[in-house]
Amino acid sequence: MEHLPAEDLRWEAAPRAHFTGRVWLASLGVMPDEAGLTALAVHFEPGARTGWHHHPEGQILYVVAGTGIVADRDGRRIVAGPGDVVRTPPGVVHWHGATPEGPMTHLSLTTGGPTEWTGEPVTDADYRGGEIPPR
Ligand code: MN
Repeated sequence: MEHLPAEDLRWEAAPRAHFTGRVWLASLGVMPDEAGLTALAVHFEPGARTGWHHHPEGQILYVVAGTGIVADRDGRRIVAGPGDVVRTPPGVVHWHGATPEGPMTHLSLTTGGPTEWTGEPVTDADYRGGEIPPR
C-alpha cells in the first residue's frame, strides 16, 4: 500500500491552452498504465473552466468542494455540489468548471487515454449561456 499525505500532492497549473482562468491539477495515480485508470484532483478558481473536450471512454466526476457546472453542446447544464457525481458518456463534447462566485474541486476518473480537446475555449457567452440555478 502507499499513503500519499495531502501535503505531498503535487498541484500543477493546468495548461493555459486548454483552460480559462486558473486551474490546478494533482495526479492521484494512474493504474495500471496510461491506458488504464487516470485519477485526478482538479481545483478551479472562481470563473475558471476547461475548454471544450471529450473523453474516449467517458468520465466520472465527483465534486469534493464548492459548486461545479458541467455543460454539453446540446445545452444540457448540470450544477453539482459536494458529494454529487456527474457522468459523461464517451465522445460527448462538454466542459466543466467553477461558478463565478466560488472555487470548486472535483475528482476526475477516466480510462482510455488522454482527454481529446477540440481546441475551442469556453467563451464567456458559453459559460454564462444558461442561468445557473440555485442548489
Ligand atoms: Mn471532462
